[in-house]
Amino acid sequence: MANKEIPYKIYLSENEIPKAWYNVRADMKNKPAPLLNPGTGKPATAEELTPVFCKELVAQELNNNDREIEIPEEIYNFYKMYRPSPLVRAYCLEEKLQTPAHIYYKFEGNNTSGSHKLNSAIAQAYYAKKEGLKGVTTETGAGQWGTALSMACAYFGLDCKVYMVKVSYEQKPFRREVMRTYGANVTPSPSDTTEIGRKILAEHPGTTGSLGCAISEAVEAAVTQPGYRYVLGSVLNQVLLHQSVIGLEAKAALDKYGVKPDVIIGCAGGGSNLGGLISPFMGQKLRGEADYDIVAVEPASCPSFTRGVYAYDFADTGRVCPLAKMYTLGSDFIPSANHAGGLRYHGMSPILSQLYDDGLIRAVSAKQTDVFDAAEMFARVEGILPAPESSHAIKAAIDEALKCKETGEEKNILFGLTGTGYFDLTAYEAYNNGTMTDYVPTDEELAVFRSHLPQIG
Ligand SMILES: *Cc1c(COP(=O)(O)O)cnc(C)c1O
Repeated sequence: MANKEIPYKIYLSENEIPKAWYNVRADMKNKPAPLLNPGTGKPATAEELTPVFCKELVAQELNNNDREIEIPEEIYNFYKMYRPSPLVRAYCLEEKLQTPAHIYYKFEGNNTSGSHKLNSAIAQAYYAKKEGLKGVTTETGAGQWGTALSMACAYFGLDCKVYMVKVSYEQKPFRREVMRTYGANVTPSPSDTTEIGRKILAEHPGTTGSLGCAISEAVEAAVTQPGYRYVLGSVLNQVLLHQSVIGLEAKAALDKYGVKPDVIIGCAGGGSNLGGLISPFMGQKLRGEADYDIVAVEPASCPSFTRGVYAYDFADTGRVCPLAKMYTLGSDFIPSANHAGGLRYHGMSPILSQLYDDGLIRAVSAKQTDVFDAAEMFARVEGILPAPESSHAIKAAIDEALKCKETGEEKNILFGLTGTGYFDLTAYEAYNNGTMTDYVPTDEELAVFRSHLPQIG
């Protein structure tokens, strides 16, 4: 039987929420590659980025040197409403697996947006408000980011325009209503409200949209309306910075009980939760103070790390954003429509891409039916209905725990449980009905998208 000295939930007190975000770039010898201006092919300057992003966020985006960035009081006070988030010892899952491993998860689903995205949404809305802007524009796929941003904008009294991938807009009407309840204006993308949307509709009539396309529309809406800026919920350096609050809290909680994780696991879409969860641990690893086995888990249907290339690519379909050097499948890659597990973005955070290229993290991919098997087991023993995205991390944690069962190792496994799955019940329905299928792109398919990469350097 497990040793119950460590409680089921390790709670920190309110004043143990970190006072500053941790900027892992400060400790990286090889810094992430800079964003490039697609017109000049040169690193994008603060001036070039300012029409798109808020000033303070541009500064954070370009800041490779300051290790700590203080969390403004207004953001800290908002964090207090739903943070610190619990760190849970998964005793019941350990029991179910009969593993000697100790499994911990950091649960970020305890807020209305249902995910970690609120940690960055509130920061981005705050800086927009402070700059005196009228509002922000963004895209959302599954809807978590749009929901988190709507909540943050409602809090600071900002206008929020969300371009929601059309297929999600139609399939997830309840997400849409949550956003509208918080006052957001939600438009299915592609739409006829932007030039790029009209162009995409003309070229691909009947398209159900994609994240890359919604990003292009949101950026256009921001740069063509005075008083608006664009905000993004993942991928960017600034987002990983804000998400470091996850890892800082997790580390503080484990430190209380003298627990050092051996393996740290996170699902990876654009990389923000994984980047945030691992940041203080990665800092120690980069400074040579400790070592950790860090694992990114991605869907087999959208395998940017495990089958992508490390190259400069467009961030969006309309090619209006700066170019980012990242592990990518090509900006017009769209995972198959039967993929219900989220994590659909074609590229990966430039910070994580550099760390992966330097061999400091490893990556695995998982098929969605295996991911839902893990989700079902987790829901039944741990009680939380996990988001499909988060369930990728659950799947990998279970695999690690089963390896420990074979070897007898008592490893400490930490994973990020990024959110809840209440709005993903269509996917659960397919799983429960036995109609869910797996899709894994062939090398030939991937080669086609790769051949569309811009030729840089
Ligand atoms: C958005 C989201 C993710 C993936 O995004 P990352 O930027 O890779 O963290 C994972 N889990 C949940 C619940 C999400 O909403």
